[in-house]
Amino acid sequence: MSEKNFCAHDLAQALESWADPSFAESYDNVGLQVGSATQIVRRVLIALDLTPGVVEEAIQKECSMILTHHPLLFRSPSRILEEDFIGQLILRLAKKNITLYSIHTNLDAAHGGVSIALAEILGLHHRTFLNPSDDGTFGMGAIGHLPEPEPLKSFLDRVHARLKTPSLRYAGSDEAQIKTVAVCGGSGGSLIQSALDAKADVYVTADLGYHRFFEILGPDGSCQMALVDAGHYETEKHTEQLLCTWLTERFPTIKFYCTSAPTTPIKISIR
Ligand SMILES: [Zn+2]
Repeated sequence: MSEKNFCAHDLAQALESWADPSFAESYDNVGLQVGSATQIVRRVLIALDLTPGVVEEAIQKECSMILTHHPLLFRSPSRILEEDFIGQLILRLAKKNITLYSIHTNLDAAHGGVSIALAEILGLHHRTFLNPSDDGTFGMGAIGHLPEPEPLKSFLDRVHARLKTPSLRYAGSDEAQIKTVAVCGGSGGSLIQSALDAKADVYVTADLGYHRFFEILGPDGSCQMALVDAGHYETEKHTEQLLCTWLTERFPTIKFYCTSAPTTPIKISIR
């Protein structure tokens, strides 16, 4: 007897039962991006972002579907040209009959989603949403506790090691004792006040502009909590493995791969 064939729609339906598209932010564009819901799927490549390298890897691994965290299409393109970054990606996918699906802020907001998984990687216990929805079915960011308090300096070592990053930007006293930790994978500057309200000792997120660091200062200029910018890619990279594990459990006959190369264009220079 032949194995049941699954199509892109079957994977989408399963993912959306976990991360309902209604959880997504209003600016977002989650779901099918390119291709067809009826695409038969036996091999899937998972990546944080779509790049030419990811498409070539999918072709080489004979994947008929690519699953990304960040959507390729945020705004409607006015033209699709080989000469443009997005245009050539769309045309390459179309020529090779590869379907692209994105699961973004709906996965950030889901139980067991991007930020809760980040909290787990950092070793936090009692993980809950930092900003839960009214009914608690979804939320943004996560908060939890370290097993034992540790100085900020040691906590930064933990972030470096567990997120495998040599560089962090931060504010806070190196001697501050860290027990309660708030996190948000990716651009989480809008949750700084939530982390302060929750009495977090530190908030770890990414994409923080200079002025965001002033939001943690008290009237005397001292830091009310520590604030760490660990990088967008670095705080979300684990999403690839999160999706791979979740899908492999539910579709054991499909082969899921995490992309083998980093998709971030950013390099870090340390002198
Ligand atoms: Zn992101």
